[in-house]
Amino acid sequence: MSIQLLANLSYILSAVLFVFGLKMLGSPATARRGNLLSSLGMLIALCAGLSAEGILSYEYILSGILLGSVIGALAARLITMTAMPEMVALFNGSGGAASLLVGWSTLYIGEVSTFTSVTIMLAMLIGGLTFTGSLIAYGKLSETITSKALVFTGQRIVNSLILLGILTVAVLFVMAPAPDSVWLYALLGLALLLGIMAVIPIGGADMPVVISLLNSYSGIAACAAGFAINNNILIVAGSLVGASGIILTNIMCKAMNRSLANVLFSGFGALKQGKAIEGEVKPISVQDAYYILEAANNVCFVPGYGMAVAQAQHVVKELGEILEARGTEISYAIHPVAGRMPGHMNVLLAEADVPYEQLVEMDDINPRIEHVDVAIVIGANDVVNPSARDDVDSPIYGMPIINVDQARTVFVLKRSMASGFAGVDNPLFFGENSRMLFGDAKASISGLVSEFG
Ligand code: NDP
Repeated sequence: MSIQLLANLSYILSAVLFVFGLKMLGSPATARRGNLLSSLGMLIALCAGLSAEGILSYEYILSGILLGSVIGALAARLITMTAMPEMVALFNGSGGAASLLVGWSTLYIGEVSTFTSVTIMLAMLIGGLTFTGSLIAYGKLSETITSKALVFTGQRIVNSLILLGILTVAVLFVMAPAPDSVWLYALLGLALLLGIMAVIPIGGADMPVVISLLNSYSGIAACAAGFAINNNILIVAGSLVGASGIILTNIMCKAMNRSLANVLFSGFGALKQGKAIEGEVKPISVQDAYYILEAANNVCFVPGYGMAVAQAQHVVKELGEILEARGTEISYAIHPVAGRMPGHMNVLLAEADVPYEQLVEMDDINPRIEHVDVAIVIGANDVVNPSARDDVDSPIYGMPIINVDQARTVFVLKRSMASGFAGVDNPLFFGENSRMLFGDAKASISGLVSEFG
């Protein structure tokens, strides 16, 4: 069997592993195995690709795998769960940069056809803007730079000029592709600039959508690079990432009740200021919260980013079990953008072995939230903010929320009156039926567990 045939068979196996892996990522029960299958697919694809093309020797492949594994294992161990979205942003950026470099390097192999020069141009353009866009997204999420939307007068004109510039230099480059072409450098510069300009006006609660979109771009760039070097598995893998990224982006936009255009071009929250909130905050002690919980028949936990910060998922599950053993009906309501990454709450609750059947989606809990005796909000803020539903002037107006304010009683567990990720005040804290249980969520829930003990 020739090495090329062996490589092609390996590519088919990798593609099958990618597709099945992706499918398994759709449910928390199979997600781990799905991840493992996909990584195996990537390992096979890498080894087959590099050895079949005679690009590198086995020693290089082995040292690369070893070095990459050490970096990956360290990152997986050292990066906290709450910093995961930042890491995903860096992954996307690295993917974009890699495609850019693959596209660029193709020019050094020799004469290229017009089709290849178009794919090189696309790999460099999309890869470049994904790289800088992801770095800005990383900066915003890690708050190394302000997470607020950065808008200025004439921004759209500047962006239109950059786009026009890109269109011009792209055509000039494709007409005469060469590694030392001045159009190539102009294209590179403008692509990197476009990535920055596209992400700075997006801020606040819209960052998750941007991360997901950049993920899709990194896939499209990889796909273009695959065409440039005529590598089937790169085309397949790139298309899968590109398509799944855009599907996720669409799901997240729907969850926020916004169109993608509105997310990308509205300069989130830069101008709007919600209504001033009036009312009285009613703090509650752990002991009083215990008395109310003891009498409840139906309790719904609503976790948010604060549960991840406090690492409270294990004690939350313990409290849930105690209540369940006493005959209380338990559910965990999951908002699609709670936390800092898609599925963040599912991952944390799965880690604590909370039964999947107790997890309820926003659309399923809202119609019956009036029958919930106590909704326990654990470090969630934006995703339970009623002004998203009631205040047309609020920057988050239109984002669907879990209507905890309509439950009979609401406990809000947080450390202070501080706002959430979107920086918007929350009238829930002043509600007639709201009680604020101030303190670290893990300490408060542990306190409740002890009261039951
Ligand atoms: P928020 O960021 O709105 O609120 C989190 C709350 O947790 C804060 O108000 C904070 O209040 C509280 N908190 C922090 N640490 C603790 C702790 N140790 N104990 C108790 N409470 C704590 O979170 P939500 O989950 O409600 O909303 C997610 C937001 O993040 C949305 O705006 C969403 O758009 C955005 N986002 C979502 C992503 C995703 O993919 N899911 C990705 C990026 C952003 P205090 O400081 O007073 O304790």
